[in-house]
Amino acid sequence: MAGIRGPFLAHAHSAAYSEFVSTDCLFCRIVARSVPATVVHETDTVLAFRDIAPQADTHVLVIPKEHYADAAAMATADPQLAGEVLAVAGEVAKMDGVDATGYRLVFNTGEDGGQTVFHAHCHVLGGRNLTWPPG
Ligand code: AMP
Repeated sequence: MAGIRGPFLAHAHSAAYSEFVSTDCLFCRIVARSVPATVVHETDTVLAFRDIAPQADTHVLVIPKEHYADAAAMATADPQLAGEVLAVAGEVAKMDGVDATGYRLVFNTGEDGGQTVFHAHCHVLGGRNLTWPPG
C-alpha cells in the first residue's frame, strides 16, 4: 500500500488520511476502509461500527480515527477527542434505542483489562440486563 508513513501515524484531519494509517493496526485499517466494518456513525474525528462478535443486542465500538493505544493515552493527549468519543457513544445508544433502558460503556485497557486491540475503543453494550461485576 502506497504512502504508509510508519506505524501509528494516523492524522484524522489530513486530506489524504489513508496515507497515514498504520497497516499494523486493525482499527486503523477499518478507519481507512481497507478492512470492512458495519459503520453506524461517523464524524470528522470518530468512527462507530458494530462489534464483529456482539456480546449484547447492541454492541458497537466507538473509536478515535487517530491512533492511540488506549483510552488513557487518548484522554491525556487529546481530552477533547476523548469527549467526542463519549458523545458519539451516547448518540449510538440513542440511535439503537437503548438510552432509556440503559447501557454500559467499557474501555478495556491492557492485558488484565481484557484489551485485545490496542487502538482506543469504547464498547457500547445494551439491549439486555448487564450483570455486575463483569467477569
Ligand atoms: P477489546 O477486547 O476490548 O480490545 O475489544 C476488541 C473488540 O474488537 C472485540 O470485542 C472484538 O470482537 C472486536 N473486533 C475484532 N475484530 C473486529 C472487526 N474486524 N470488526 C469489528 N469488531 C472487531
